[in-house]
Amino acid sequence: MAMKRYSAFAVAREAMSYHLGWERAWRSPQPKKKYDVIIIGAGGHGLASAYYLGKNHGITNVAIIEKGWLGGGNTGRNTTIIRSNYLQDPSAAIYNKALSLYETMSQDLNYNVMFSPRGLLMLGQTEHEVRGYKRTVHANNLQGVSTEWISPERVKKLVPIINIDGPRYPVLGALYQARGGTARHDAVAWGYARACSAMGMDVIQQCEVTGVRSEAGKVVGIDTTKGAIDCDKLGVVVAGHSSLLAEMAGFRLPIESLALQALVSEPIKPCMDVVVMANTVHGYMSQSDKGEMVIGGGTDGFNNYTQRGSFHHIEETVRALVETFPMISRLKMLRQWGGIVDMTGDRSPLISKTPVENIFVNCGWGTGGFKSIPGSGWAMAELMAKGHSPLAEEFSMYRFREGKFIDESVAAGVAH
Ligand SMILES: Cc1cc2nc3c(=O)[nH]c(=O)nc-3n(C[C@H](O)[C@H](O)[C@H](O)COP(=O)(O)OP(=O)(O)OC[C@H]3O[C@@H](n4cnc5c(N)ncnc54)[C@H](O)[C@@H]3O)c2cc1C
Repeated sequence: MAMKRYSAFAVAREAMSYHLGWERAWRSPQPKKKYDVIIIGAGGHGLASAYYLGKNHGITNVAIIEKGWLGGGNTGRNTTIIRSNYLQDPSAAIYNKALSLYETMSQDLNYNVMFSPRGLLMLGQTEHEVRGYKRTVHANNLQGVSTEWISPERVKKLVPIINIDGPRYPVLGALYQARGGTARHDAVAWGYARACSAMGMDVIQQCEVTGVRSEAGKVVGIDTTKGAIDCDKLGVVVAGHSSLLAEMAGFRLPIESLALQALVSEPIKPCMDVVVMANTVHGYMSQSDKGEMVIGGGTDGFNNYTQRGSFHHIEETVRALVETFPMISRLKMLRQWGGIVDMTGDRSPLISKTPVENIFVNCGWGTGGFKSIPGSGWAMAELMAKGHSPLAEEFSMYRFREGKFIDESVAAGVAH
């Protein structure tokens, strides 16, 4: 299913012909009766899982089933921060793989995902936090992940708008990852969808999965609002809705679902060209290419599926950021939204086989799974194709039974 390549020449050619020659970026087919693999969830992780099934393993008789529109879940709702400065070795491996894939994603997908490795700072504002981050820097250096601890003076140089003498917590330094940054979240979903469609896969939107069918402990298909579809293998990649899908399949997951929210300001001239996370006061901020200040808050303190934010969080987050960046007190906030994140007890994901044969889950990315999309898709595809993936090995759902936690509560960087 050849697709015309996007290029500067294509833009010039179309400019000369009233832009009538652009093809649809992906097809919108009706579901077939049966597929080798069905992936539920057309967020970044589901689409990336499908993409690497095709690209790395030659499996293309695949459908990606989405109840809404692709990228309309957390993938299109996040603050787009990308970094790989986690503490534990299995995390470093998968997040660093993801970061490497982000670096070449636009070329690989022939789709501009606007990856911007502008540098990322996690501020140390208490002695305890400083010790924690220094420990992470040492661990990262042993893992081959390049991060450093920088002084308050260097922080000020990188972020002139910051107030390092904060009224409550002074900035004592920062964990700095120069390779970290942002990418355009929708473009990541759209780029993968286009590449999947070009490989002959079916991306089926507005199709909710309502049941999972199995026989003799093995999956045979799903029920959807567009009818029953059979499959040999099923990947469940639905973030905050993972427990609901697991319930349909007859097992339970160690997942809690919570709303996490973000907001953006009115657009202003460029004033900050790095990403800053201030975890003690709790808020994180970067500036989008449009000029909006993109601001991330915390999770609700109770489980819910509301997909919107709550007012007290807006107030707490903005208060935290006003003391860190006093100039934002003059900004108007434009809009605010929430997504349903899927939290595990150790704040690390599940990429795992399940009690039902040939059902695999990829979830539990919680507040921080945008950055891991390509690495997670790579590992999930390998697990589904071969039954084993070195990158996914430690992220089995059974680790909770065995007490083999991968504790990333601090590196997750968001209070929950
Ligand atoms: C406000 C906010 C800020 C964030 N900031 C960051 C950040 O800065 N950096 C970072 O790395 N991560 C961040 N995250 C986390 C990140 O967005 C998620 O971890 C990631 O996007 C999850 O991707 P996904 O593909 O697993 O899920 P999703 O994108 O949510 O996709 C799952 C899809 O499954 C579909 N689905 C659900 N149920 C069904 C069903 N029954 N049938 C069919 N389809 C179904 C949904 O409609 C959805 O489209 C943030 C999240 C939020 C909410």
